[in-house]
Amino acid sequence: MVGCTGPSRPVRDRGFQPPAMVSIATTMQKPAMDPELELELLARFKTTPSLLRAAWLHLQQHNPKGAIDATAEVLYGPVQPSSHEAAFARYLRAEAYDADGQAERGQWDRDQAMALALDPELRRLLQQKHRQAPEPATEVATELVVQPRSAWQARAADRTNVNPMTRIQRVTIHHSAMYFRDTRPTTCAAQIQKIQRDHMGTRGYGDIGYHYLIDPSGRIWQGRELRYQGAHADGDNNKGNVGICLLGNFLRGRVGHSPSAEQVRAMRQLTALVMKRHGIAPDEVYCHNDFKATECPGPLLEPMVDQMVRDLNRLGTSALIDTAAGQ
Ligand SMILES: [Zn+2]
Repeated sequence: MVGCTGPSRPVRDRGFQPPAMVSIATTMQKPAMDPELELELLARFKTTPSLLRAAWLHLQQHNPKGAIDATAEVLYGPVQPSSHEAAFARYLRAEAYDADGQAERGQWDRDQAMALALDPELRRLLQQKHRQAPEPATEVATELVVQPRSAWQARAADRTNVNPMTRIQRVTIHHSAMYFRDTRPTTCAAQIQKIQRDHMGTRGYGDIGYHYLIDPSGRIWQGRELRYQGAHADGDNNKGNVGICLLGNFLRGRVGHSPSAEQVRAMRQLTALVMKRHGIAPDEVYCHNDFKATECPGPLLEPMVDQMVRDLNRLGTSALIDTAAGQ
């Protein structure tokens, strides 16, 4: 027997780059590898961005103690964190304390984070938490299944060519204007890729223009991330405007077809959920052709949008989220 070191580890980590900065996008992005492995790799770097990334991963792994330790290294370690870094550390520690059943400590750290945070996205996260707390348990389901960008292998947004989203205050419905009735996930994903290629290539946008896409089976897909302003309603109309696109061509005549019932149901649920989350009134729900002379979203879909707005006025958002009433 020649030693007992066991099989040598495969070199899976060649080229691993620890995060270079602290931000929502870098510190809290979905892991591209097994989180356990990433944690192992991060442990070699004792930098503040690595420690905070590790803290976030521990939280995702339901290990609040690990997150508390990592943030303590940042807050009380030998290197004084910047106030930006301290704000993130306090935020992550607050989340960890909450998850660990120490809500009071969590609140203290959250208040500290709020006092330090300048990053608008972090401030929004912190404020959300404040609002979430008193939500009654009888609330209807407030989550819809949304296919992540990775499900359609989205190209990363060109961050130099997108604007941050301003306060969300309206929703606009579109069609993709391409005949499409397929319900297979792979074909739907390919269709969304095609739209992104067109938007980023031909049109020179920083990403796919819409925030959500709904395929003919009623599946909802994440388009452009909501933290970025969309590119779907012409110039300033995009401000605070969530773009929802139903795949298909809803024009009359041979080129078009009707949206499926599943698609319309998903449109109603998603629209109502976005409205409820952001406090949007029914008269802030638009069709693309409210902003410019276009046939979008098509005469075969428009009556369904009108009906949705009437139902939103009559029944409120919860009824549509819960049952997609009337569809
Ligand atoms: Zn449109």
